[in-house]
Amino acid sequence: MTTTKLRTTIAGSLPKPAWLAEPETLWAAWKLDGEALAEAKRDAVRLVLRDQEQAGIDVVSDGEQTRRHFVTTFIEGLEGVDFEHKRTVRIRNRYDAAVPVVVAPVARRRPIFVDDAKFLRSQTTRAVKFTLPGPMTMVDTLHDAHYGSREKLAWAFAEILNEEARAMAAAGVDTIQFDEPAFNVYFDEVRDWGVAALERAAEGLGCTTAVHICYGYGIKANIDWKKSLGSEWRQYEQTFPRLAASAIDQVSLECAHSHVPIELIGLLEGKDVLVGAIDVASDRVETPEEVADVIRSALRFVAPERLLPCTNCGMVPLARDVARGKLLALGKGAALVRRELG
Ligand code: ZN
Repeated sequence: MTTTKLRTTIAGSLPKPAWLAEPETLWAAWKLDGEALAEAKRDAVRLVLRDQEQAGIDVVSDGEQTRRHFVTTFIEGLEGVDFEHKRTVRIRNRYDAAVPVVVAPVARRRPIFVDDAKFLRSQTTRAVKFTLPGPMTMVDTLHDAHYGSREKLAWAFAEILNEEARAMAAAGVDTIQFDEPAFNVYFDEVRDWGVAALERAAEGLGCTTAVHICYGYGIKANIDWKKSLGSEWRQYEQTFPRLAASAIDQVSLECAHSHVPIELIGLLEGKDVLVGAIDVASDRVETPEEVADVIRSALRFVAPERLLPCTNCGMVPLARDVARGKLLALGKGAALVRRELG
């Protein structure tokens, strides 16, 4: 924990340039290949760093410019998974997706994002965050034809993630965040093995560790699901006490324009809280004052040194100018409240 107040950061992805991938599209294919693609990804990382720095974001990331998908791009680097013969399965208990199949023991034979992490570190003097999928969310984005147990497969992924995360931390990454949207769906599994597997993935890293739990991108299946959740979204009530008791340093949650009762963040005592102050399911750019209001309400439960104003989730489906506007609003809103705090 540092003494800086209201350090801003982002939850995950940012839109990609149109020359790299189709804009405003989730999981868009690359428009280049080979060395041209590798160079284009690095150029895109430079641009999103500049956007974040201009907006006054304190803990910056690569905005997932080098990844098509926050889960499967990591899995593509592993052995034991068949991407040729995909299966359509229900994921997050709410929508069908064509996913790769685990056909043999999973293994990491080589670094996957470590070079990307080194490049990110080399391009900015700010603190950098790199995101990885969490073990439960990986299991929930695959069809398993080998392990016969979600828990066993999660433990195998946790060990692999830990190897990768250790190499990233050694490359100078300040924060490693595991994305676990599945934690908002499978509460019994979170209790039985989800938090333990997450802790295994984050064990001994020597850098700040974070977990991001959200209600997903602003796609129709998620918007319909949100409508079914009633006037108060209390899902975090089940997971936050378990995370408060865990070894994870930071918890990233959705807040702006959600029905999450803000007092639930009081369950995260002792943790840094990344409060979502930017709605990623809307094209409307927040005003700095709106961002400041979310921060002020969160400050009733979290000290300013432990509160990191953040986005609700990834922004890859948004137009670039909308995302840039939202980053600026985030930086300005945090600055407003910082001035009030003195
Ligand atoms: Zn998210």
